Amino acid sequence: MRKGFVQCPHCNAPATIRTSEWVNETVKDLYLICLNTDCGHTWKAQLAAVFTLSPSAIPNPQINLPMAPSDYVRRRYPESAREPGNDPGHDPRQIPMFG
Ligand SMILES: [Zn+2]
Repeated sequence: MRKGFVQCPHCNAPATIRTSEWVNETVKDLYLICLNTDCGHTWKAQLAAVFTLSPSAIPNPQINLPMAPSDYVRRRYPESAREPGNDPGHDPRQIPMFG
């Protein structure tokens, strides 16, 4: 996991994972340390598979991960990007491929 994937809840500095251990097939305990030497916070967090967005092409029969609720909307862009005229799929730096 890359540095900065997790932020310290106290000072918002990047944190790093010192150790981790699986709790079960879908949950992992993470032991983290804040990289801000003025803070030094250490804590335990969990990483969990919550639900499936797209089924695996090679599903493990031991894993029973429910499908996402039908009304689930994945938040990929900030709300401001969803306003009309701020098409998040449009990158003005991209060169048009088709005329
Ligand atoms: Zn911190």
